[in-house]
Amino acid sequence: MAVSVEIKDLVKTFGETRAVDHITLTIEPGELFFLLGPSGCGKTTLLRCIAGFHQPESGSIHMGGDEVTRLPPHLRDTGMVFQSYALWPHMTVAQNVAFGLEMRKVGKAETAKRVKDALAMVKMSDRANHKPNQLSGGQQQRVALARALVIHPKCLLLDEPLSNLDAKLRLEMRTEIRRICKEAGLTAIYVTHDQKEALSVADRLAVLNGGVIEQCGTPQEVYLKPRSVFAAGFIGETNFLDGTVKKISGERMIISTPVAEWESIHGLDTFKEGDEVTLSLRPETLHLGDASPGQPNVVGGIVHDTVYLGEVAQHQVRIGGDGGRNLKVFDLNPRILARDGEQAASVWVDAQDVVILPRGNA
Ligand code: ATP
Repeated sequence: MAVSVEIKDLVKTFGETRAVDHITLTIEPGELFFLLGPSGCGKTTLLRCIAGFHQPESGSIHMGGDEVTRLPPHLRDTGMVFQSYALWPHMTVAQNVAFGLEMRKVGKAETAKRVKDALAMVKMSDRANHKPNQLSGGQQQRVALARALVIHPKCLLLDEPLSNLDAKLRLEMRTEIRRICKEAGLTAIYVTHDQKEALSVADRLAVLNGGVIEQCGTPQEVYLKPRSVFAAGFIGETNFLDGTVKKISGERMIISTPVAEWESIHGLDTFKEGDEVTLSLRPETLHLGDASPGQPNVVGGIVHDTVYLGEVAQHQVRIGGDGGRNLKVFDLNPRILARDGEQAASVWVDAQDVVILPRGNA
C-alpha cells in the first residue's frame, strides 16, 4: 500500500557543507515525486537520508505516519534503484530478483510467484534465465527495477536511474518507469538533474539549490509560474531582462527595462511600483511578425541568426538597437529565416506570458 513521506526541517551536513539545509516536504501516497537540481544541490543526500544511508543531524522523516529517521535502511521498506544497475553477474535475472526475498527468508513458493509478477511488470518474463551480460543496459535497468519492486516496498527511491542509458532508451524508460510506478501504486521519489525527465514523468517536483527547496509544484506550475530566477533558468530555456515596476493599474502591470516597456498580468499581489524585478520571457512565447492592432508588448527587432530545425527555427533577435539585447525566439512552422543576413521583424508576447520575478542573477 502506498504511503506518504513527510520530511520535516531536515538537516544533513558534511563538515562545512550543509548538503540538506532545513528541508520540509510532504510526498503524497502514490505520488511520483522528483528531486531536481544541478550537481551538488543536495538531491542525492536527501534521497539517501530517506533511504537510511545517511543520518541527518536534525529534523525527522515519517513514512505512512511512522517515524523512520533513525531506522537502519533494511527496516524502512524502501526499494532503491541506482544509476549503476549493480546486478550480480553470476546470477540469472530471476536469481537476481529473488535475492532480496531470500535475504528476508520469504518461502520458496511465495518467492517464485513474486519474482514472476515483478518480471512481468517490467516486461522481462522471457529473460528470466539470462545472465546480466546477455542483456542491454535498458534491460538490466528493468531487472534492477524488478529487484526493487519484488520486496513490495512502501516507497521506491530512484537515483538517476537512466543516466547510463543512451538517449533513445532513456526516452523509452521514462514512460516505462511511470507506468510501472502507477501500476504498482507506489510512492516513488526520483532524483535527476535532467529537467526534461522530470517535466515529462513527475506528478510533482522540487527544484533544489544549495540544499534548500527553491520551488515545489507540478511540472506545469513550476515551468509556467517559476518563483525565482534560479527556478526559471534551471527548468527550460528563457530570456531574462532586468527592470523596474513602473506602474500598476487595474489588472495590469507595466515594467520598464532598458530595451522596452512590458505589460504583464502577473505579480499584482507580490510587487509594488518601484520594485526591482527580473522578467522571464520563454522563447516559445515570443512571436515574430505582425501583432493585432493595439496589442501591447510589440518591439521592433532584427533577426540576425537562425538555427533552422525544420518544424521549428531558433532565432536570435536583437531588440533595442545597437547596445540592445538579444532574445531567443522559438518559431514553430517558421517562415522567417536569417541564416546569412539580417531581417527586420517585430517581436511580440502576450501579457500573460510575461513572468515577473524578484530581481536575481541569472
Ligand atoms: P550530483 O547530481 O552531482 O550527484 P547532488 O545534487 O546529488 O549532486 P549531493 O551528492 O547530495 O548533490 O551533494 C551535496 C553536497 O554535499 C555537495 O557539496 C557534496 O560535495 C557534499 N557531499 C555529498 N556527499 C558527501 C560525503 N559523503 N562527504 C562529504 N561531502 C559530501
